[in-house]
Amino acid sequence: MRILLIEDEKKVADFVARGLRAERFAVDIAEDGTSGWEMASAGHYDLILLDLMLPGLSGTEVLKRIRRQNQTVPVLVLTARDGTTDTVEHFEAGADDYLTKPFAFAELVVRVKALLRRGAADRSSILRVGDLEVDRLAQQVRRGGKRIELTSKEYGLLEYLVANAGRVLSRTMIIEHVWDQSFEGLTNIVDVYVRHLRTKVDVAHPVKLIRTVRGVGYTVSDEAEP
Ligand code: CA
Repeated sequence: MRILLIEDEKKVADFVARGLRAERFAVDIAEDGTSGWEMASAGHYDLILLDLMLPGLSGTEVLKRIRRQNQTVPVLVLTARDGTTDTVEHFEAGADDYLTKPFAFAELVVRVKALLRRGAADRSSILRVGDLEVDRLAQQVRRGGKRIELTSKEYGLLEYLVANAGRVLSRTMIIEHVWDQSFEGLTNIVDVYVRHLRTKVDVAHPVKLIRTVRGVGYTVSDEAEP
């Protein structure tokens, strides 16, 4: 699951992002309302965490634009305890929930998961390719009904590949989605993790689902290889 965090207070943003990544979410950070809106408008997120007091566009304006675009992505508003904003206003502007700063990280996680569950009620949370199942809510992977234990990054990589099954993903695309935009390591980290995944997901099975597309990247498919 991919979360957009729009928050200009660097300390809060880092703290929240670090915690959510440890919970296996991919997190992108926008440090002002304008870039936040640009990133949100692409519609690639499963959830948006939105601070209200932002440089550039205000959080309320970002929220209104998201809803005007008919995006149903759940939005959790982060608000300061200063009494200037009315909670009713948040909901009227299209927020799904709100949290008052400072908040306990555990409470944020509970609310994030609740919103994602609600959002997933419409679309199935289970992705399937052949006999491989990825449950995006439980963050569990099974092949042939047997549970496979993965690390956070392995899981993030597999979820991204399976969510885009049949589509070829370049190493750069994978880095951006799984390691976040801030990652500036070498793209061969992708190859290393694909190797780990193959050991856990494919080695014991006759049909290899994780495929290398030479010179391009990787794809996941259960169709017979040419
Ligand atoms: Ca702020």
